[in-house]
Amino acid sequence: MGKQVYQTARGTKDILPAEQPYWAQIKQVAEKTLLGLGFGRITLPHFEDADIYTKGIGADTDIVSKEMFYLKSHTDSDSVKLALRPEGTAGAVRSYIQNGMSSLSQPVRLYYTGAMFRHERPQKGRFREFYQVGVEIFGDDSAKADYLVIMSAWEILNRLGLKNLIVYANSIGCPKCRPKYIAKLKKYYKSHLDNLCTDCQNRYEVNPLRLLDCKEDSCQKVAKGAPTMLDNLCTDCKTHFQQTLEYLDYFNIRYDLDPTLVRGLDYYTRTVFEIVDKSDKGRKNTIVGGGRYDGLVELLGGHSTPAVGYSIGLERLVGAMKEQGIKPPKTRGVEVCILQLGDKAREISKKIYDTLAKSDINVYFVPSNDGIRPQIKSAAKIGATYAVIIGQKEALNDEIILRDLTSSSQEVFSSKDIAEEIKNRLIKCEC
Ligand SMILES: [Zn+2]
Ligand SMILES: [Zn+2]
Repeated sequence: MGKQVYQTARGTKDILPAEQPYWAQIKQVAEKTLLGLGFGRITLPHFEDADIYTKGIGADTDIVSKEMFYLKSHTDSDSVKLALRPEGTAGAVRSYIQNGMSSLSQPVRLYYTGAMFRHERPQKGRFREFYQVGVEIFGDDSAKADYLVIMSAWEILNRLGLKNLIVYANSIGCPKCRPKYIAKLKKYYKSHLDNLCTDCQNRYEVNPLRLLDCKEDSCQKVAKGAPTMLDNLCTDCKTHFQQTLEYLDYFNIRYDLDPTLVRGLDYYTRTVFEIVDKSDKGRKNTIVGGGRYDGLVELLGGHSTPAVGYSIGLERLVGAMKEQGIKPPKTRGVEVCILQLGDKAREISKKIYDTLAKSDINVYFVPSNDGIRPQIKSAAKIGATYAVIIGQKEALNDEIILRDLTSSSQEVFSSKDIAEEIKNRLIKCEC
């Protein structure tokens, strides 16, 4: 009988220690950038009342109609249907309303990070559990807010060292101008229905805007000749979009207009944008995607509140960093190992351990009865840079041998100087 070997569930992954420096670097840079721009961190639940997604994202979207994970408990007596979050915005809006954040001084700027869940067909670069950094600004209807979110994403990617990026932007109008445009769009598509993929033939009825961003060649050909939202914006939407672009110009953010960019979710209004690598012409590996969603807070039961936000796909971001050869800084592992010989040395070793730990040195010490050679070997094995060696003689003289495990050179120091000496050496080699 073979043993059962368990595997990760389809579409999920382990992020092993060797991969972690990328994730740690992203977290650190994103946090520093966003806190520095006045955003506050919020932690949101991983599951919510499924209604906020059905209502907020739209029942006809792929995310809700095909990709939601519903939760089932043992008793099944829950009166609300729960779903794992497929994205973060609806939960952030729910929290803004529930916690009365509209009575705080506006705008309210929030960011969060964590796992999202979608039951997608796993293919290259797509996971059923994936990670995002999400950013939202509530209570600011000016183009300044659109600019600030785009700029903050641009800034994070730049600080991580990514090059060759471009923002694609579009405006999808407001409830005043969009219905008229959609009517025009449907009129145009009516004569092309035979040339569309089956998905698009369905979209024609339920979500005509999404006809524009179908990735099928035949559909893209038709989309090229379609009337654009940009030519059909009302005066307010037009001004808002122009102002947003002026801000981007001012900050030297590289952008291009893409009239086929509509984003997959129902809640967007006005500005929508994506950030991709310039070589990614079809926007197949979008790193950042977002936009304005002025109607969502009211739709989910709050007061009418303008809002704008985005999310960064972290798997895509790690992929882009690797592709561009960006190496994250090494995280600090074991820096010093204490090796001792004999009872007296063992006593002193504990004191040296405390001194080094207090000096913020990463020190590893497990008393051992082995000889010095095998102890040096195991110190090198766990990745220590230095070994502090205390034998019977050193213990009597209040001295310590400091051994560089890379070069195998060693020197004797008075035990009171050892922390200072190690600190100086660690700063110099920046390991
Ligand atoms: Zn409008
Ligand atoms: Zn299509």
